[in-house]
Amino acid sequence: MVIKSFLFIGSNHITDFINTIYTPHSEVIELLINYSDVQEWFLKVGLVKKFDELSIDKKKKYFEEILNYRKLIRDSFKNYLEHNSSLDNLIKVSNNILLKSSVHPQILIKDDIYVLEYISNTSNHNRLLSILAIEFIKLLSSEKFKYLKKCDNHKCSLYFIDTSKNHSRRWCSMDICGNRSKVNSFSKRKKVKE
Ligand SMILES: [Zn+2]
Repeated sequence: MVIKSFLFIGSNHITDFINTIYTPHSEVIELLINYSDVQEWFLKVGLVKKFDELSIDKKKKYFEEILNYRKLIRDSFKNYLEHNSSLDNLIKVSNNILLKSSVHPQILIKDDIYVLEYISNTSNHNRLLSILAIEFIKLLSSEKFKYLKKCDNHKCSLYFIDTSKNHSRRWCSMDICGNRSKVNSFSKRKKVKE
């Protein structure tokens, strides 16, 4: 049995979400195999507390839509970071997702602070997809977006928002790439000396 564990190194729901597929070294690791995996991810990050009953067909359809949206975000972020490409298409798709959903702005109290949240109601649409689109738009319109980064290891495809104090974070995590890089540069230095 393969024990899957989600990574929460993205410092944001959207980067964590697109990190549900990644290539840490060379092999692709897919953490979302079916709709239940998606539900589990939403529960773990606390974006949803309970789910609507859905038919098998709906689950299949919604799952595909969610994976397509994840691919679009991933590809758009990649092109944005590598070629400074526009995010217009991603914005258009996200706005279209939200047009189909009914979302209500609500004031909530989180950690003693008033926050504006957009609550998606449980009508007949892909609610989890709407929640992702809201999270994406929240990220894009926040200060944090300029600290979007991909791991410095060119083989690694993990993304994160660099929330470190002087914005000098380079690795997805020390465990996955940081230590490996240190070991590599150490052995390179050693070779030069020898
Ligand atoms: Zn990495």
